Formats: sequence, C-alpha cells, structure tokens
Amino acid sequence: MKLEDVFDRTRLNSKEKTYVDITVLPDGSTVRLPLMMVHGREPGKIMLVLGAIHGDEHEGPQAIRELFDALEARQLVGKFVGVPVANPPAHRVSRRESPIDHLNLARIFPGSSKGSVSERIAYNIAKMISISDFLIDLHSSGTNLDSPTLCGYCAIKGEAGRISKETAVVFGVPVVWEHPSGVPPGRTLSVAAERGIPSLYTETSGGGWLSKDTVLCYKNGVLNVMKYLGMLPGSKPETGKVKHYIVGGGDLDKDSVTAATSGFLLSHVETMDQVRQGEILGRIIDPLGETLQEIRAPSDGYIVFKKANPIVYCGESVYLLAHAPTKT
Ligand SMILES: [Zn+2]
Repeated sequence: MKLEDVFDRTRLNSKEKTYVDITVLPDGSTVRLPLMMVHGREPGKIMLVLGAIHGDEHEGPQAIRELFDALEARQLVGKFVGVPVANPPAHRVSRRESPIDHLNLARIFPGSSKGSVSERIAYNIAKMISISDFLIDLHSSGTNLDSPTLCGYCAIKGEAGRISKETAVVFGVPVVWEHPSGVPPGRTLSVAAERGIPSLYTETSGGGWLSKDTVLCYKNGVLNVMKYLGMLPGSKPETGKVKHYIVGGGDLDKDSVTAATSGFLLSHVETMDQVRQGEILGRIIDPLGETLQEIRAPSDGYIVFKKANPIVYCGESVYLLAHAPTKT
C-alpha cells in the first residue's frame, strides 16, 4: 500500500491493518512498517501515533494495538493511524538501535529515501508526520535509562505550541515536561515542529519488559488527546493529574551529567527527586568498593533520567535534570 492511500482523507467508516514496504534486505526479506488505521465516519484531523522508534520499548506498540481494538469508526471524526513498530530491525532484536546500520532512529529524521535502512524508515515516517495533524511518539526510556512516566512537548510559537501544551496536560500522566527551545534536529518532534504540527512524546520506566499499567496509561492518554481535539465524543478530559510541571532542554546527548570515569554506579537519588546544586547524586566505585567519582548536581532541579544499569563508562550520560518553571 502507498502512503498517499493510507492518509487519503476521503476513506471513511472502516478499520484496516496493513504494511508499507520500505526496502529489501540481502536475504530477500522486506523491511515494512505495520499500520493500524481507523477511518472515521467523516473527514477530520489525522492522529499519527508511533511506537517502538527504539526497539527495546514495548509499551507504545501494545498501546497502539489496544487503541485500534477500542476505537470505533462510527464514533470517530478524522483518522487514527498507528504505527506499532516504527523501527522493525531494532524491534526484532529488542535493542534501542538498529542492528543493521547501528543508527539511533530518533536522531536521523527526516531521513533519506536513498540512505541506509534506518534513514529510509525515517524518511517514510517523516512523510507520514507531514501529512498528519497531530503526532504522538510513545517511548519507554529503554533498557539503559530510568524515567518517571512523563509527557513532553516543544514550546513552539503559535497555535501548534498552545495545542501541544494543553494536550500534554490532558494526556493524564504525573509529569509534564516543557522544552522551551524545542527539541534538537533529527527527532520526530523536530519534524512536526518545523511543519507547525502539534506533537507530544511520552517516556516511562521501561526496561525491555511490558508494563500493563503503562500500556493502559498510554492508551487512555491518546484517547484523552483525541477527545480534546474533538475527534471522539465525550466531555473534555480532566487536567488535574499533573503532579510536576518541569522545564528543560531534555537533550540526553548534550544536557546530561556524564560519568568522568568508568565503574559501578551507586545512585543516591531516584527519578523525580528534587536536588540542590552541589548535592551528591551518586558515586562511581571500582571493583574493590573504592570511590572513583562523586557525581554532584550541576544545578538545582529534578532528576528526570537516571542510568538504570549500574555499569557505567566514562563519558556516558548518568543523570539528566530539569527545572521547575520560573514564576512570572
Ligand atoms: Zn525511546
């Protein structure tokens, strides 16, 4: 099936599962993206939901399958397009990055139609984002990191920024994370932001397993956003579930606290702990228990990401902090 057909706004009142071919592998097999679509009773907004951009994050894919089962075409205005496995090569081996070209799919958008396997996947997903009216990218932090269940958005200017902010709150998770200067290039959200399309992403403490509670939370979150956007009937979702509203860059590659030395991490803090500048966050020890490094908080803030696996290497991201919003 061609992407243009998938997103054809005149197709109504039906549910459909299919695949879109991306490229062929040396053994003759085809890399293809699975698609789950609900075409509503009348034309309207297109909601695109992505799962498993990282192959070791499993809650998003299952939430999308359950959303597809729960949605009824006759109740829906517009179109739901779910891509439960956005990174099939990485998903097949349950790893963050592709075993074929070793690229991180969440860093190479908008990809290239003539590039490597991951770049071609990114190219096709970027096309899908461009045709959509709203993007939700469901992540689970993966096997290497721990995070609270959170919903993040780019505080871009105009209507798209306003809608992203309001939907991040109605999604219904305890932590909402605002990125005041957007997200760096290469992400699904950066593609959406460049095109003025409102978007959200989620994270949770997912370490290669499947949390049924998170699946339900993600499923309800997407339904809440669809209700908010008028795609589904029902009263506006409540907004009282946010316990922490935090602000920060959120770029693990640049903004995080890194290990100065390799060793074994003994963390003194957990995710969403509030810390003061200079406070010891953890120690890196050697095999005999001797302290090699005390890791201190570079500023006041909240711990949003923490290394889940205690084996750390020099230069590796160990913590990421975000801040409470400045009062105006
Ligand atoms: Zn991820």
